[in-house]
Amino acid sequence: MVKIALQIKATLENIEELKPNGSDFRWYFKFSCNNCGEVSEKWNYASLDESTPAQRGNAINHFISKCKLCSRENSMTIIEDSIKSYNSDDQGKFKIIVCLECRGIEPCDYSPREGWIAKACNNGNVFTDIDLSDGEWVEYCDKINSSVGIYEIESRFERIK
Ligand SMILES: [Zn+2]
Repeated sequence: MVKIALQIKATLENIEELKPNGSDFRWYFKFSCNNCGEVSEKWNYASLDESTPAQRGNAINHFISKCKLCSRENSMTIIEDSIKSYNSDDQGKFKIIVCLECRGIEPCDYSPREGWIAKACNNGNVFTDIDLSDGEWVEYCDKINSSVGIYEIESRFERIK
């Protein structure tokens, strides 16, 4: 088993905190098989709300797949307490927002998509259901009378011990 951290970097405009909203948040990944190197063509999602017990041990899986090429059964678990928000202080830096326990597969691409929640700075509005599929998001906050936005989202993976 390896632990892989997903890091994101973004530019926030008048946004104090950006985070995945709730346990039904869907994390979209492409995975590669450690055994044969096959990379999944389509996006797969994993969510804390959708789990299956592992065949061995006490682990639960949030994603299971059988490799099309080598037929190996691979799985992944989202580590719930590793989920972090991305804050205005983190701007311009990569920050870990979730860690995954991977067995036989590793994520090789990430797509942010929908289900984010963001809080405007200076006690502005809280925006729910933000869609980051286009790589950015812009709105107007009538509490602080200014535009709010999330731009230039980048992501990368890091193996952690
Ligand atoms: Zn394979």
